[in-house]
Amino acid sequence: MSEIHNVVIIGSGPAAHTAAVYAARAELSPVLYEGFMAGGIAAGGQLTTTTEVENYPGFPEGISGPELMDKMRAQSTRFGTKIITETIAKVDFSERPFKLWPEHKLDKDPILAKSVIISTGATAKTLDIPGKDNYWQRGISACAVCDGALPIFRDVPLAVIGGGDSAAEEATYLTKYGSTVYVVHRRDELRASAIMAKRLVENPKVEMVWNSVIESAGGDDKQIRNITVKNVNDGSSKTLDVGGLFFAIGHKPNTDPFVGQIDLDEEGYIKTVPGTARTNIEGVYAAGDVQDKKYRQAITAAGSGCMAALEAERWLSEQD
Ligand code: FAD
Repeated sequence: MSEIHNVVIIGSGPAAHTAAVYAARAELSPVLYEGFMAGGIAAGGQLTTTTEVENYPGFPEGISGPELMDKMRAQSTRFGTKIITETIAKVDFSERPFKLWPEHKLDKDPILAKSVIISTGATAKTLDIPGKDNYWQRGISACAVCDGALPIFRDVPLAVIGGGDSAAEEATYLTKYGSTVYVVHRRDELRASAIMAKRLVENPKVEMVWNSVIESAGGDDKQIRNITVKNVNDGSSKTLDVGGLFFAIGHKPNTDPFVGQIDLDEEGYIKTVPGTARTNIEGVYAAGDVQDKKYRQAITAAGSGCMAALEAERWLSEQD
């Protein structure tokens, strides 16, 4: 029979690596499946898609996202975490030990685990417009709270794409930094809750661009300088000069392998017992953005990874 691991951690962002450090130091010999372009993102998670991280404690000068993730990975391995560069594609949580299958090994014997920590994160949705790849992290972002305070976004016009609660929240947040914040929305009213929509449209720095969709982003060799938007009613296009563009059209939690195995909410996020990392399956924990649609920050993901490892350790010690 295959070895039964104490803890298998799925994912590779701040939640997964924090859980790994705690589990490894607790001598649980954790095995971490970091994924191979899982959810369309390299091992290391969302921070590998950004440049400067200025709000993670301990780095007063800031640190690049990929470098921060390299350091977290090195800290996991330092204490003996075994890291495997494969994506978990299927699980069976119906009985213990839990069973997990990596992609490309679905016909092989499963990996067996006494406990599992799911920290597969989420992927910020963007639109594939011309110029996006060119100016990604050179003025284009998908996280206003993360990037809004960066110097390139100060005192310049900014644009936000979206019309829901998160778009309203992100656009309102960006009024602290930008000179004007255009909110480009395809309809003539916001989907955001009434109170947030009112706060947004009444903000003197906000200019609503109703009934419009973004067509392209343009700029120079340094950064984005403008966007072109099209009015969906009359088909006319116009160019807005902006120094920043933020997509606020939602996130997709990376939970496909867990559908039918664990309780998910209506948007596909894993449900945890409030204030804990526990799921509805005893011995299976969830940490980071895969269960958090409110804070979505590296530090909160790391904190919940710590909680998951401590809970798994305690639970395992009660099992023997
Ligand atoms: P994630 O970072 O989402 O990583 C999870 C990873 O696990 C996936 O990306 C994938 O590689 C892997 N994975 C997924 N599915 C599987 C599977 N089935 N099997 C194996 N592996 C899998 N936060 C800040 O605090 N400061 C910032 O400055 C900041 N900047 C940001 C900039 C951008 C553009 C974005 C998009 C986000 C930013 N964030 C920032 C938010 C931050 O990146 C996230 O909150 C944080 O990374 C969430 O961590 P996580 O551990 O939940 O997982």
